[in-house]
Amino acid sequence: MRAAPLLLALASCLAPAAAGAWCRTTTCAAQPDPTMCPACGSPIAWQRPCTALRVDARVLPPTLTAAAFHGHVADAARAWSSFACAGGGRGPAFAMTVLDDLNARVGYFEGAPNVNTVTFRDHWSDDAFHAPDAAAITIVTFTSAGAFIVDADTELNLRAPANPRGFVFATDGSAAAADLPTIVTHELGHTQGLAHSAERAAVMWYSAGRGELRRTPTDDDRAGLCAIYPPRVTEACAPDPGLLTYGGDGLSCAAAPRGGKGGGWGLLALAALAGVGRRRRRAS
Ligand SMILES: [Zn+2]
Repeated sequence: MRAAPLLLALASCLAPAAAGAWCRTTTCAAQPDPTMCPACGSPIAWQRPCTALRVDARVLPPTLTAAAFHGHVADAARAWSSFACAGGGRGPAFAMTVLDDLNARVGYFEGAPNVNTVTFRDHWSDDAFHAPDAAAITIVTFTSAGAFIVDADTELNLRAPANPRGFVFATDGSAAAADLPTIVTHELGHTQGLAHSAERAAVMWYSAGRGELRRTPTDDDRAGLCAIYPPRVTEACAPDPGLLTYGGDGLSCAAAPRGGKGGGWGLLALAALAGVGRRRRRAS
């Protein structure tokens, strides 16, 4: 998510808020204008009805404890699953569970267990993914074939001696800081496959001013998530099933050793992934 710019006024006159202003991330290149919804590619989504998030609390703002950080991420995840979709009693058929904190590498690692992390960074702008004016980014890795999300990592751009252009985060609505719950709730929208909404009041609007609070998904945000994961009776789902690999007909848990049947199969999956397999997308 970006810090509130002059662009705000410009964006709202370009794309006034409308019903169904939500937008899905697709497999085609991101639009330069964050309020424009891509009209190409296949929309991406998790294939399983659940996934796990892990907080990496090695870097923290001076005013925030690891327990509090964990709590805010859990609240943000819950905000995306504690509502009913329009027209029925059920919520979206997808849920994020925040498991115990874990010191984990950011990124997608082929053939290794991948962890969806949420973490602060006290250094930034060390590659093309880390735009200096982004308070946070989420790197979503997905397969080109099937547009399945396989990993999503959220990084928060923290002001620190080595990162003086970073952001000050607060949780008390302070007008001098970026609101951490607002930013995390927005980024978890990206984690699930949502892009930016054209509705100014939505959690998925692309920017937030200091002290601006948008912690609860609006009807537009909810409609977007329900469109990605329409309500249904879901199969049992372990948030963190361990190593996942791909094959011709989708995901399978690769608990079985690679030497056996899985091996050949695994090789196919790896080749597919490596060949056309996966791409990374930055959303801020
Ligand atoms: Zn964003």
